[in-house]
Amino acid sequence: MSPQTYKYVIVGSGIFGAVIAERIANDLGEPVLVIEKRDHTGGNCHSVDHSETGIHYHLYGTHIFHTSDTEVWKYINRFTEFNGYRHQVLTTFKNKVYQMPINLETINSFYGLNLKPFEVTAFIETEAHKSGIDQPSNFEEKAISMMGYPLYEAFIKGYTAKQWGCDPKQLPASILKRLPFRTNYDESYFFDSWQGIPIHGYSPIFDKLLANPRIQVELKTDFFEIRDELAEDAKIIYSGPIDKLFGYKYGRLEWRGLSFEEKIREVSDFQGTSVMNYAEEQIPYTRIHEPRHLHPEKVYPDSQTLTIKEFSHADKGDDPSYPLGGAQNKALLEKYQAELIQHENLCVGGRLGDYKYYDMDQTIAAALSTYDKISSQTK
Ligand SMILES: Cc1cc2nc3c(=O)[nH]c(=O)nc-3n(C[C@H](O)[C@H](O)[C@H](O)COP(=O)(O)OP(=O)(O)OC[C@H]3O[C@@H](n4cnc5c(N)ncnc54)[C@H](O)[C@@H]3O)c2cc1C
Repeated sequence: MSPQTYKYVIVGSGIFGAVIAERIANDLGEPVLVIEKRDHTGGNCHSVDHSETGIHYHLYGTHIFHTSDTEVWKYINRFTEFNGYRHQVLTTFKNKVYQMPINLETINSFYGLNLKPFEVTAFIETEAHKSGIDQPSNFEEKAISMMGYPLYEAFIKGYTAKQWGCDPKQLPASILKRLPFRTNYDESYFFDSWQGIPIHGYSPIFDKLLANPRIQVELKTDFFEIRDELAEDAKIIYSGPIDKLFGYKYGRLEWRGLSFEEKIREVSDFQGTSVMNYAEEQIPYTRIHEPRHLHPEKVYPDSQTLTIKEFSHADKGDDPSYPLGGAQNKALLEKYQAELIQHENLCVGGRLGDYKYYDMDQTIAAALSTYDKISSQTK
């Protein structure tokens, strides 16, 4: 079928686009064209076997599936099985390893104490009180007023500066909503009902989502280059950056980007965990991933392991990762969203379209709800 014949056109084959394509083809029974500018489907949820070590890894940063949404869990389980991986994060500060998020073990180990759960809140409150900050006006002050300066300086300051590329004093206090520490030894990173890594990785999920012959996928195709070839009344479901859709006419939304540096190490296990954060600002990377730990059920070679350093930088619009947010970007987003309302056949979503950080389960939920709206207009 030529692009002009499709009533439904989806831009982007990440979770948002692929789930809607699956629903349109299987539930609505309509043909759908999926346009993807990369050479693979799946968007940022893409994983492959490393060519040299055979270790399965995630090309755009470690992705752990976790959810408490029953509908999403049932839906995704139609396309994959998950292993029993439970995520835990550790951080290295001054050559010593601590648990993250900050918990009783982190606090005791950092201060050289043996506080009990019923003692730690009062201890932290005393530390926080020393700062004398009653009315925090920025991220740094808020964090210090919650946990005291020493913990903030060790675990939050440098990491935040690297991650967001600015002094934490320049970030709004509103980012820190909750007291970011636990009063027990719980080291689980997520509290969701379900979590794990797809047993065969992420890519087979997308092969299955897009398997219906009614779905035509065009890889290495940029929507903006073929837009004129599409039917005028086609329903376009766009999951690329919203500012790009309108030619950046009001300006560019700001993002942080990531870059990765792979290294094969001649040891069977480099760091003993899948993700190790590096808290100090002078260490240029934010974390090291060691993907062999994501698949404890797989047998990998003992002689080698794969590690991947993650660096954070200002995005130049090529590969946005985390929305920077803030009042200016919010105002800009609202202008684009107001413009969008005038285009009846355009539906925008996903992390790039909504300019929002979405976990995978939130993206699936958003896609299912968008599909419900599309199908209710049709049925
Ligand atoms: C570093 C990192 C780690 C993450 N880790 C986790 C995690 O552990 N757990 C979790 O639940 N979530 C995680 N996420 C979030 C997860 O990646 C997102 O929820 C998910 O990728 C969103 O899917 P999407 O379809 O909205 O966007 P994407 O995956 O970005 O897909 C959008 C697709 O649109 C394509 N596209 C854009 N513009 C065009 C165009 N003009 N023409 C054609 N194609 C176009 C892109 O190439 C891309 O393939 C992480 C995100 C990041 C950045």
